[in-house]
Amino acid sequence: MMSVLPEFKAWEQAPAKDELRLIPIGGLGEFGMNALVVHSARSLFLVDCGQLFPSDDQPGIDSIVPDFAYLEPFADRIQAVLLTHGHEDHIGALPYFLRRWPVPVYGTAFTLGILEGKLREHDLDLSLLHQVKDYGRVKVGDGEIEAEWIPVTHSLPDACALVLHTPQGVLVHSGDFKLDPDPLDGRFTGMARLTELGDAGVRLLMADSTNVGRPGRSPSESVCREGLEAAFEQTKGRLFITTFSSNIHRLQQIIDLAWEFRRHVVVLGRSLDRNINLARSLKLLDLPDDILVDVKDAHLFDSRDLVVLCTGSQGEPMSGLARLLRREVKGLPMSPGDRLVVSARAIPGNEVAISRMLDVAERLGAETSSEGLGPVHASGHGSREELADLIKAVRPKQMVPVHGTYRNLRAHGKLAAELGWKADRISLLDGGLCLRLFTNGKVDMPGTVPVGKCFVHEGVDHMVDARVVQDRLILQEDGVVFATLLVDAQTGDLAADPTILSRGFVMLSDDESYGDLLAGVARKAYEEVPPALRKDPEALRDAVRLALRRIVRKTTQARPLVIPVILEAPQG
Ligand SMILES: [Zn+2]
Ligand SMILES: [Zn+2]
Repeated sequence: MMSVLPEFKAWEQAPAKDELRLIPIGGLGEFGMNALVVHSARSLFLVDCGQLFPSDDQPGIDSIVPDFAYLEPFADRIQAVLLTHGHEDHIGALPYFLRRWPVPVYGTAFTLGILEGKLREHDLDLSLLHQVKDYGRVKVGDGEIEAEWIPVTHSLPDACALVLHTPQGVLVHSGDFKLDPDPLDGRFTGMARLTELGDAGVRLLMADSTNVGRPGRSPSESVCREGLEAAFEQTKGRLFITTFSSNIHRLQQIIDLAWEFRRHVVVLGRSLDRNINLARSLKLLDLPDDILVDVKDAHLFDSRDLVVLCTGSQGEPMSGLARLLRREVKGLPMSPGDRLVVSARAIPGNEVAISRMLDVAERLGAETSSEGLGPVHASGHGSREELADLIKAVRPKQMVPVHGTYRNLRAHGKLAAELGWKADRISLLDGGLCLRLFTNGKVDMPGTVPVGKCFVHEGVDHMVDARVVQDRLILQEDGVVFATLLVDAQTGDLAADPTILSRGFVMLSDDESYGDLLAGVARKAYEEVPPALRKDPEALRDAVRLALRRIVRKTTQARPLVIPVILEAPQG
């Protein structure tokens, strides 16, 4: 990822007494997998430990987590994980991390509630979780560094910015945030405390860059009520609404409207069920019991008396909405007069799946356009003016954009420059790039440490090798060619012509003479291996593979997976 940048040569040596290292091992230059290593002579911990959802070029992979290679030389020193909030891109890799390093995890109630469910699934120790309240403080490790949680508004409850009080100064990490002027739960971003910290002097600010490309301010969560209310008003049949299952404030608005419009609520999807129960138990969601209808009783209700909350806003194939559209949910058909509202944004990469899903709903006769309704979604990330407000409140010595593509990070740096921050006070980090702060005020970037992605396939208890994913891509693109060579064990000669077999490889499907050509090349490659080397099956396979790849590429431009199989001919 970072081959253009110099390597941090001494990364395996522990930091000096006056040195603090900040190393994003994920989440910069990409969306997802947020994880920041904070490392000094006495302290070593992570801020967030997220996962990345795989894209189409990672077939068969369920999840992608950071490579923790940097931590290995310091494995016995890791002290804690501090969490800003409960989104997957901030906590999703924790089950894999905690299996290797069962250290204490600190976060707010809703964050830990979501995490608890994951740890249970992975059979991990729940006593590692330690709850922190808004404005609460925790001494990390031996107490050299103290962390402080400051509430921020975002798209789920209990999100926080993190302040680290270190010997190198006060560091502020914004987490994912916006400055919602009208939060549903009345829990505002703690700008007063952030300004107070700014007054006292902040050494460094790491801030969310997600929406730096949007001018002005992000709309308040409460504006969604307008569009959702219009959907209730204008729908004669069933109203299906899909949203992110952790967006409890969105769910609250829908439930409130259901109450006003006298519709009962059906909940469809495992993560919605889980998060609703969690939010109710933490008194973050007000949901009257008699408003809920079990999905198996849905057929007893008139269409206009129901609103169906479902998972699947990103077109996920196993979601409640996808099952419904495949007519796998009994007694709850989608039909003319119904409406489907997608109360979410499309995460980049999911547009095609979402568009397909909307198409199926339209085929069933439902209305899917939200045009003319008013807003049905509000982003959880602040736009330019909010980002500027944070910089102006905190007034850091050093500004570090985080959480976004490299373009976002650069744009956020430019925003700081426009606000008067000089270039040497803006540090553009990237995955694995280390920033060092020294107690005497010095700052430097000594280079990159090893970072990368690890692939998770559920049910396989080790990480999937990147080569496996690479092979799958090749198979998908160009297919596979097998060459079977039958060898006489006594003489070392070929006992028959090589057999060529292929799947998904376009040139071979009906062209016999092409098969003969490849068989001839395989034979020649085999015969050119000096007899002394033929005892080594690996060398034989390499020679055949190379020759076949070369001829296939020359004749077809394709690069299928080539698999030579060398068998001993049966005697007699
Ligand atoms: Zn988030
Ligand atoms: Zn995030």
